[in-house]
Amino acid sequence: MDNFMQAAIAEAQAGFAEGGIPIGSVLVHRGAVIGRGHNRRVQQGSAILHGEMDALENAGRQSAQVYRDSVLYTTLSPCAMSSGAILLYGIPRVVIGENADAGDPASCRLNITSLLQQY
Ligand SMILES: [Zn+2]
Repeated sequence: MDNFMQAAIAEAQAGFAEGGIPIGSVLVHRGAVIGRGHNRRVQQGSAILHGEMDALENAGRQSAQVYRDSVLYTTLSPCAMSSGAILLYGIPRVVIGENADAGDPASCRLNITSLLQQY
């Protein structure tokens, strides 16, 4: 398996070990992980700390060019909020481990493939 997807899975496992929802993500720039994170909604009592958002937050503030040269790896298809962040940051490629509806009404999953292909 791809090393970066393995890193995203390791993040998901870390989240699960904390009692959280096991979804992980890493942001990769030119072959190096610059941000990693996992869903912390349970741990932080947060409405917005999805794995992708946590990875973006932990990457710190980067230049637009860095985002344009990055790939986001995530273990589950991004929700509308995370997809919006991906689009706004201009991250051109997302590698998704699994495209499934988690059954969470807040997840509200869209067809991320068609959404991202519009941009
Ligand atoms: Zn999300």
